[in-house]
Amino acid sequence: MAAKIQKNKDLKALRRRAHLDGVPTEHTRHAKCNFAPKCVPKLELGNEGVKDLKALRRQARLRGTPTEHTRHAKCNCRRLSAAALRAAGGWPLVPLGFAPKGVPKLELGNEGAQARLKLLRQQLARWFREHGRDLPWRRTTDPYAILVSEFMLQQTQVATVIDYYARWLVRFPDFTALASAGEAEVLHAWQGLGYYARARNLHRAARHVAEGHGGQLPNDLAAIAALPGVGRYTAGAVASFAFDRATPIIDANIARVVARLLDFREPIDTTRGAEILWQTAEALLPKRGGRLHNSALMELGALVCTPRAPQCLICPIRTHCRAENPESLPRKKPRPKTVALVEDCVWLVRDGKLLLEQQTGPRWRGLWKLPPVPKAMHGGRLLLSFEYPFTNHRVTLSVYSGAAASKSSANQRWVSLSKIDEIALAAPHRRAIKRLGADYGTT
Ligand code: SF4
Repeated sequence: MAAKIQKNKDLKALRRRAHLDGVPTEHTRHAKCNFAPKCVPKLELGNEGVKDLKALRRQARLRGTPTEHTRHAKCNCRRLSAAALRAAGGWPLVPLGFAPKGVPKLELGNEGAQARLKLLRQQLARWFREHGRDLPWRRTTDPYAILVSEFMLQQTQVATVIDYYARWLVRFPDFTALASAGEAEVLHAWQGLGYYARARNLHRAARHVAEGHGGQLPNDLAAIAALPGVGRYTAGAVASFAFDRATPIIDANIARVVARLLDFREPIDTTRGAEILWQTAEALLPKRGGRLHNSALMELGALVCTPRAPQCLICPIRTHCRAENPESLPRKKPRPKTVALVEDCVWLVRDGKLLLEQQTGPRWRGLWKLPPVPKAMHGGRLLLSFEYPFTNHRVTLSVYSGAAASKSSANQRWVSLSKIDEIALAAPHRRAIKRLGADYGTT
């Protein structure tokens, strides 16, 4: 407390001296809250004033004067102690559109901040050139291949995607080929990756490009963002990876790195939290070379700044990082409670054919699954039971044996067991059918 009072006194003294010497006082104008403090000779500054202000900053730095701190009602910035700032190697992100915790304007000045940002970008790029993984979608700048990889990588791990990506490009090599394929074929090629809405959206996006852009995705962020299933992240990723545009992107890996760099302790899945991350990602971007920069930031999150046990000792940008307890970041809103669901299905085989039912609901629309246990059926033997997650649900899928019967709905079909692999099945049901494979042909 005493130190705080002393710092404020020192700052006031500095301002007084500045007034007496005819040097304009510090002016902080935030892009976001458009705040101007009382003492602001903003209009008097001009070029000369700015030069004087720089001199004042230099003096302040030499004299060890405490850094300027402005607490804004609107942007709610918080103070960072001078000691923590020094330990973190100084704050690199002053030119952001929002106020970081504590505003070390007097210590850094704009040139200092820009130099630090430049250094951070260089360190990041150098590290990526040496340590970045050679992933298939990093060997191409084809917008179609990049878009496919981005759709596949949503909610899915890199190791899983690699094989699917290669097979997909052989089967559907460009927008036109994908646009002319039928939905069943597309879903079949996607089966096993889950979240089938992505396959449907990718299919619709291909038709959009084929019909609206002659099969070539234009280098236009708005046109990319207008594609079905393409959000802010995917549009930015395609623009930067395919067209090398300096467009910010925030995925889980980048969000983690940025939140830790800032020691940002608010939930990142709120509107405000997300916006601060996007603004920071934008401020970190170089003017050119979005592909390299975004790939490096993403790769750092995947390999070094990992959710658990981040390897700060070997991190190329550790001198810029302010995270005190990185493993606790990023923070998110509390998750909704998990809800238990039960899914009872029947295993019905007749003449070497298995009864399947095509789904029409939003969850698995177009896919096939084992039919539900008919109301009239009693006493079926439990063949298999396992749990699988679905959003915030925990589903228990149980499969019972049933007597051979006729179809009970128009969506049902007898499918030859030898042709099961050609059908697009819902992933948990494909798993159940595979596990019951030894019993194919029996009831
Ligand atoms: S120093 Fe640690 S927490 Fe900070 S960015 Fe690097 S790995 Fe992440």
